[in-house]
Amino acid sequence: PLETVRVELGARAYDILVGHGALSELGPRLSQMLKRPRAFVLTDETVARHHKDALEAAVKSAGIRLDWLSLPPGEKTKSFSQLEGVLDWLLAGGADRGDTLIAFGGGVIGDMGGLAASLMKRGMGFVQVPTTLLAQVDSSVGGKTAVNTPRGKNLIGAFYQPRLVIADTALLATLPARELKAGYAEIVKYGLINDAAFFDWLAVNGQKVLALEPEAARYAVARSCAAKAAIVAEDETETGVRQLLNLGHTFGHAFEAANEYRENLLHGEAVALGMALAFRYGAASGITPAADAARVTEVLGASGLPVSLEGFDPARFAADRLAALMQQDKKARAGRVPLILARGIGAAYVHPDADLASVERFLASEL
Ligand code: NAD
Ligand code: ZN
Repeated sequence: PLETVRVELGARAYDILVGHGALSELGPRLSQMLKRPRAFVLTDETVARHHKDALEAAVKSAGIRLDWLSLPPGEKTKSFSQLEGVLDWLLAGGADRGDTLIAFGGGVIGDMGGLAASLMKRGMGFVQVPTTLLAQVDSSVGGKTAVNTPRGKNLIGAFYQPRLVIADTALLATLPARELKAGYAEIVKYGLINDAAFFDWLAVNGQKVLALEPEAARYAVARSCAAKAAIVAEDETETGVRQLLNLGHTFGHAFEAANEYRENLLHGEAVALGMALAFRYGAASGITPAADAARVTEVLGASGLPVSLEGFDPARFAADRLAALMQQDKKARAGRVPLILARGIGAAYVHPDADLASVERFLASEL
């Protein structure tokens, strides 16, 4: 059985179909959507190697012909020059506004595919078939698209919503365990933001989710998508509540930058560490109950995610260096940084002006 999560965005509302085998819905759904039996598929070489045949099979009965473009896997692909290549491929293939681009891959392919779709003839149809856990619960929901530039990540982009998302948890079977856990950190995030009951459920059932047991995986992915969808429906362009999705990310982005984005610290790992630190900083500041901070550390740690700075290069992760990186946050002012803190598990809030000196002292105490 599949679960459908509706993203309520007025005339641009769309469905997220979640579950083991959800891909089989792609053919029937596309036939209702397309003006002609043809679609463009953007993917990466790893995803194509594992799952191209499954996607072809899913649209075969609907008689849809697919044009494929496979790019090299990895964050470097999310670039201006690759974006230009995607647009040229679409133009060469005669893509029209009425045609649809399917992003078949992780967040890299989804983010760049969405931006390409938004630009193509000022907007062609866009469908996401996310193949990483992170993409299924986070990047494919909400319509943020982007490419990176040498001056920073995700600086060039647009808000552009897909018409359909299909999150087939069976596709995750080939994902490396570390990537799976990194995506799982974003699932835990939704429990920590505003859903303590979900956090409790994850504390008991997390291993089943990570083992990709179909029922558990469907439940966790669907509940995560619903959580993000509700926040996005309320604040599509991140002027208010959408900021809560940054829980663990202000710390996390500083760790990723301090680490120069090397692959020994994945984004989700940095976020897990960042969430544990946000809760412990909250506890140290008298905002978060200490027992909640300890429980968050324990539950994230039990799933194999990093929860402390121990073992990281002390020079690279020096407190003053991390604080300087946090000062570069888009919304930071002199000596102050916006942080997502929590009054407890499931009770996150935007703290608009945390004192950077106290954050730095806290980080020094953690090293
Ligand atoms: P990714 O797309 O690079 O995928 C990670 C790795 O997994 C890649 O090597 C990929 O080839 C491989 N892979 C993908 N699916 C696979 C499968 N089923 N089996 C085996 N291997 C598979 O990275 P990601 O973690 O999915 O996404 C990270 C990106 O998402 C970042 O660029 C980030 O900025 C972006 N992001 C965007 C949003 C948003 O709201 N738009 C939110 C969070 C993250
Ligand atoms: Zn994230």
